[in-house]
Formats: sequence, C-alpha cells, structure tokens
Amino acid sequence: MIKLSNFPFKTQKTVPNGSDNKSTWILLQAGFIRQTMAGVYSYTTLGLKVLRKIENIVREEMDNYGVAETLMPSLSPKELWEKTGRWDTIDVMFHLPAANNKQYWLNSTHEEIVTPLVWEFIQSYKDLPTSVYQIQNKFRNEKRAKSWILRWREFLMKDAYSFHSSNEDFVKYYEWMKEVYLNIFKRIGLWEDTIIALADWWTFTEKFSHEFQVKTEIGEDTIYKCKNCEVNFNEELIDLEKGFECLKCNSKEFIKFPASEIWNIFPLETKFTKAFWIQYLWEDNKMQTPLMGCYGIWVSRAMWLVAEKYVWEKGIAWPESVAPAKYYIAIIWEENIEKAYELIEKLNLDKSEIILDDRFWRKIGFGQKMWDAELLGIPNVIVISKKTLEQNSYELNWELIKI
Ligand SMILES: [Zn+2]
Repeated sequence: MIKLSNFPFKTQKTVPNGSDNKSTWILLQAGFIRQTMAGVYSYTTLGLKVLRKIENIVREEMDNYGVAETLMPSLSPKELWEKTGRWDTIDVMFHLPAANNKQYWLNSTHEEIVTPLVWEFIQSYKDLPTSVYQIQNKFRNEKRAKSWILRWREFLMKDAYSFHSSNEDFVKYYEWMKEVYLNIFKRIGLWEDTIIALADWWTFTEKFSHEFQVKTEIGEDTIYKCKNCEVNFNEELIDLEKGFECLKCNSKEFIKFPASEIWNIFPLETKFTKAFWIQYLWEDNKMQTPLMGCYGIWVSRAMWLVAEKYVWEKGIAWPESVAPAKYYIAIIWEENIEKAYELIEKLNLDKSEIILDDRFWRKIGFGQKMWDAELLGIPNVIVISKKTLEQNSYELNWELIKI
C-alpha cells in the first residue's frame, strides 16, 4: 500500500513550464517525474510504479516466450568498440576518460558487449539458436536534448539479441518476435495506434527491417501509408524529389502522418560476429559465422506515449494494466481512522494496488483529493467518510456500496 503521506508528493494546479508536449506537462503536473537536466528525468514513487508496470509487462512477455533475461554493464572499454569500428562513428556516445589512460563508453547499445559474452558459451551448431535480453538504462550524448521524447540523454530500454546458424532460423525468430511485441502493445494500451512501418532495406533477403511506430502528434518520424495496399513506409525510405511509388504495389497515393518509433527489430547479419572473429563448428566440420538480430523497446518512451494517448482535461486515464494503482482510497473522517482501516481490511483488495490518501495533518480538502485522484488517473476511487461508515458502506466511483 502506498501512503501519500509517506513520500514527497504534490500535484500542481497549473501546467508547468519547460516542455513542448502534453505528456511531459501532465507527468510533471501529477508529480510523476521531475527533470534533472534536459533529457534526463527522475521518477517519483508514483511515476516509478507506472514505469515498472510497463517494464514488467515487457519482461513477462519476453519470459513467456522463453527468452532469457541477463544484465550487462552500462560501462564498456574502448577496445571492444574499436573492433567494430564504431568508436569513431557513433557520435552520440558518452566517451569517459578514466584512470591509467583508459577510455570507456557509457553504452547506448550493447552489440559490442553481448557478442563476445554469448560466444563464451557457443562452440558448435548444436549450441544455436540462442538469445538473451536485458532491461537497463541507456545513454546518448545528445547535442540538443529536449523534453521532446526522442532526444533523451538517459532512458530505460529493453534490448534483445539473437544468434542463428541459418537464415531460415533467423527469419522464424524475427517473425516470432514481432508477435511478442504486438502482445506487449495490447497489454499497455497502445494497440490501436501502433503500426508496423518498413524502414531500412534488409539486404540479404531483400526484405526490410521493421519499426513499430505509434501514431501521435508529437512523433518525430513521418510515415507514408499506401492508400492501395496499406503498407507503411518511413519517410527515410522515400526520395521526395524523385517521387515515390509503393514498393509493394507501385501505387503513388499515400496518407501521411506523424508517429513515434517505439520499438524496432533489426537483422544484423554477420556485421558483429565477423568483427569479433566469431565462428562455430558446422555439421560438416567447417567453420561458419553466425547471424545475429537485435530487438529494441524504449520502455520509458512507452510511458510517455501512453500518457500522451490517454490524457484528457482532468488528468491521465491510464489503462488499468499500467496505472500507478488500481484503487485510490480517500479517508475523509480521520476521527474514526481505526474503523476506516478495518473497512479497508474487509474489502480484501490487493494491497500493492492501493494508494491511500492519508494526508490528514496537511489539511488537504475533499475537493483537492478527488482532483488529485483524477489527475493521477487511478481507475477506482473509494471514499470512506463519516456518512459511509455510519451506514457500514463506502463509495466506489460515486456509488454507495454496502458491505
Ligand atoms: Zn501499396
């Protein structure tokens, strides 16, 4: 049970400055987050509840499909990135000078760490396929970090990596991961707004990599949807000067809309396994280079996109699956607090899903409590007052319920 009197909590009547989008305003106004610097946020107790729920849905769906969780470090040595030639080519990495003339990176991605790590455990084709995932903070050295949801310097991400001995095996896994991702969208309430867009060419099979995009006004990407065959293309595929034909049906008619990339899946082919000289023994006793895929989800961005979608004039109407709690219980009559607690016990609710508004000595009025409950977006508001206690009852979403 979360007691509002136990941690720093306060909502704001007015919309705070310092943001260019609704979701950040409402998350600040409801006290879910505070900005530590541009593109870097702290999560307060209730904001963290939402973030953890999204994170756990991602974890459950990955675990349900048998992908194994791991945890790699945020810090890595220069030598690993020199092997793939990315030390000098990725300009959004934080370079950290360290003791003894060493240089480290704060990781924005983990191919250089996961490839040699997994290879400690693989000798032959019998050890393939295999895959791992992790959920951890990533870092990007953005030159112009904004509250805008794309340009963050630190954010929570789920990244998975798979290793295969054949292209058929990789394609099977890749299609299967798409299903896992769609399940996650359904559970966090972004299903109707999610589209799969084709992005870069995936050269060796003449297919594309896939981006999962959420339609939103604050999206940083532009999507072209073919009016004829309904396939979505990211604008980056389109040569606007030459004109664009649908790559599936050759139609030239498109609907254009903004969207935010939330998750992507990439075939990495042998780019990283070759760079690390990784090989395994095939059935015919010859050495082969394994294929790799990577699968990302921006967990913290998902929280912003859910907030952006479900914001209304009084607050955020979170889907129950990601709301900070299922129940908001306001005790109005503190003189008989013991009786109120007895009643809560009788209701037999899941205690981890209760926010108890017990801000008695702060003299928070009834109106303010109800205003806060709506701003926070808790689906079930329970009021226990002198009147309800005398009638051995409580109010649930404004209806009197007898016990
Ligand atoms: Zn088409």
